[in-house]
Amino acid sequence: MTIILQNDDYKYELEAVVKIFFPAMHFAFEYQKNDVCGDICAARLKKGKEYTYAFAAVRIGGIIKRICAKVENGCKNYVSECEAALCRCLYICLETVTGKKCAWGMLTGVRPAKLVRQLCDKGMTRDEIFEHLQTNFFVTPEKIALAYDIYKLQQQCVDFAQRQKFSLYVSIPFCPTRCSYCSFISHSVESSHKLIDEYCRLLKRELEIIALYAKRCNLAVETVYFGGGTPTSLEAKALSELFETIEKNFDLSQLREYTVEAGRPDTITEEKLRAIKSHGISRISVNPQTTNDEVLKAIGRRHSAEEFFQGYNLARKIGFDCINTDLIAGLPKDSLLSFEKTLDDVIELCPENITVHSLTLKKSAQMYEGGADSFLGDVGKMLDIASQKLTKNGFLPYYIYRQKNTSENLENVGYSTKGKECLYNIYIMDDTRTILGAGCGASSKLVHSEFDMKRFFNFKYPFEYIRDFDRMNEKKQAISQFFEN
Ligand code: SF4
Repeated sequence: MTIILQNDDYKYELEAVVKIFFPAMHFAFEYQKNDVCGDICAARLKKGKEYTYAFAAVRIGGIIKRICAKVENGCKNYVSECEAALCRCLYICLETVTGKKCAWGMLTGVRPAKLVRQLCDKGMTRDEIFEHLQTNFFVTPEKIALAYDIYKLQQQCVDFAQRQKFSLYVSIPFCPTRCSYCSFISHSVESSHKLIDEYCRLLKRELEIIALYAKRCNLAVETVYFGGGTPTSLEAKALSELFETIEKNFDLSQLREYTVEAGRPDTITEEKLRAIKSHGISRISVNPQTTNDEVLKAIGRRHSAEEFFQGYNLARKIGFDCINTDLIAGLPKDSLLSFEKTLDDVIELCPENITVHSLTLKKSAQMYEGGADSFLGDVGKMLDIASQKLTKNGFLPYYIYRQKNTSENLENVGYSTKGKECLYNIYIMDDTRTILGAGCGASSKLVHSEFDMKRFFNFKYPFEYIRDFDRMNEKKQAISQFFEN
């Protein structure tokens, strides 16, 4: 498909609108050219005396739709009004020609609950928010209600205005094997075996450095989160040493939550779970993604559903009282029925959190190379079923995020039983809390307010992290500059 534009103005936004309908497609761009063959999406502005006219046209498979809207030249926010008019026109054309209805309309932002909070902060009422998102972004009332309810629940869990607390994130970028849909920086333990000891040694050093900055800036740790990758790819001894480093160096008196992802059941052993438990860590993730063995095989997970049940039950036996299980809607070889069975299987276990993801197809995932469209089936229906079943069984949605190239442009939602919501998940999506990240691929976000924040990033790959460790840590001076000024 070719996208025809006047110039690069609004290119990113217009491409994002087209991607809502064609998430896995590659586009060619043409400028000012009208005689392009094949499927096209075109958008342009024409300024008249009083009004600027936004034109959009779409031709797909010989079906054509054109539409025009106007923007007053002297209006407030003229540039953003022009952008919105162009995007809306293009969206309507695409919706008409493809016949696809998108539940989130043309809302491409990744944090719908944050958007609702911002609209509330501006003084908009619930009704005004519904009206705004329906009229300007074509979001369905069901999705607006989802985002609104999540925001309301989050307000009960966290104080968004707290500034002297932070979340510590620790990245363990290793996994037993790489899943075919993976878009994270994760390395199989086999291929990176030689790096692990050195990585852990430096990670402990980095945690000590972060602790010094936190102390100097009077920041208290509120949540700790070990993610990745799969932290339980490390041996029990290595995990314990990392926990001890945190205990020795950070003031944990204000800690409200401590999570370790034990995501892959094929990494779970009794020794590791006992090591985690003995350090007072209360929340873990044991992720089946699906309880259908055929689907697990298709996505390259080297474990069976049975191994997931064993890992989960072992964690319960050892005494974990907050377990999250991740599921993915839209996996290859999955079906509505099989997804429903996965939900039933997991609900029966009574975990405290169930996170339902929509399959994301990023360029790095092997599945993308195989052509993604064939997988994009009944994801919307799967999410609806999940919502119905989970709310019926006492779970409430408490955090939400969306990613680019997600099946049917849908969302990922974390559900929780009352009082077991993961605070870190809320913070990371709302941009109102400082996060200090350790380990490769980790990012840090320093926050005074959502309009006054600074981010910096660690190196992406273990070999860079090890090679340029000292250089990387120079960036941490930003912490004291930010909080001491
Ligand atoms: S377990 Fe997660 S991080 Fe590891 S390869 Fe699979 S999707 Fe990627």
